[in-house]
Amino acid sequence: TLLRQKIKAMGDVVFQGDLESSLRYSLKHEVGGAKEISGEKLKSLRAYIDVLVKYFPFSTNGKSLLNQIRTYAYSRDHIDGTEIRKLVVDADKPGKHVFSSPQQWLACRASGSAHRGYPCSLWKMFHYLTINAANAESGVKDSNPRVVLEAMYGYIKNFFSCEDCANHFVEMAGRREFYKVPSWNESILWLWRAHNEVNKRLSGDETEDPEYPKIQFPSKAYCPQCYRADDSWNEAEVLVYLKKMYSYENIRYMGSD
Ligand code: FAD
Repeated sequence: TLLRQKIKAMGDVVFQGDLESSLRYSLKHEVGGAKEISGEKLKSLRAYIDVLVKYFPFSTNGKSLLNQIRTYAYSRDHIDGTEIRKLVVDADKPGKHVFSSPQQWLACRASGSAHRGYPCSLWKMFHYLTINAANAESGVKDSNPRVVLEAMYGYIKNFFSCEDCANHFVEMAGRREFYKVPSWNESILWLWRAHNEVNKRLSGDETEDPEYPKIQFPSKAYCPQCYRADDSWNEAEVLVYLKKMYSYENIRYMGSD
């Protein structure tokens, strides 16, 4: 509880441990739990692994793990998720130096029961990916600014274990026309708006952690400049805030403050 309170007092921060725990859970349990992956599902997995290889913040050994998974995913038309699970379980053994910390939740730790954790870290991971893909690719000729949103859409639709969540997300993503997003900055803002729509729907819901109420993000306390005088969003400032919070340079490690 003390650690959680300390982390909470740090405000809107992103921990490497949460991003890695999200990735590890996703590959071990969601991808790793699917025996037979082919067709659209395999296409989605490849798109997901492609953005992870390119934009997930990882150690050299972590990058080789992702490349190994990528090679396997492209090696045939039908693959077995349990093979990917085995690769991740093996990478997680002591002495392998792939992950920087054990499976744990830091800024995504719940105050009591089982909420938060994985879904919280999955949001953070995709926000991180939109921002870091934008940093890497904006200005690059013929780059596709929807690449992370497309990967997320496919992943959530085909692998996310919360079925209700996946159905909601697919409906919302279609309604919000993610496939028309015209620029890298707009892809960051698209995901920010989408997440706020989910926050609004779930605000006051029984799944809400009372110590982490669902708000329209970011709060006025942390980003007063994100709000105009009439309380509408100043999206240019929101973009600055998100780019700072989710930047590679600002990722925290346990023990750093
Ligand atoms: P989360 O909403 O998980 O947010 C995690 C962190 O992201 C926050 O702590 C904050 O630092 C940051 N953040 C919050 N809002 C934004 C934003 N707009 N932009 C950028 N960063 C932000 N649960 C359901 O009960 N029903 C659903 O239909 C549902 N759909 C989901 C769909 C997806 C794709 C995902 C990933 C999760 C879904 N969930 C759903 C789970 C739910 O959204 C939360 O993840 C969960 O309730 C934990 O909430 P949390 O308080 O940890 O904050």
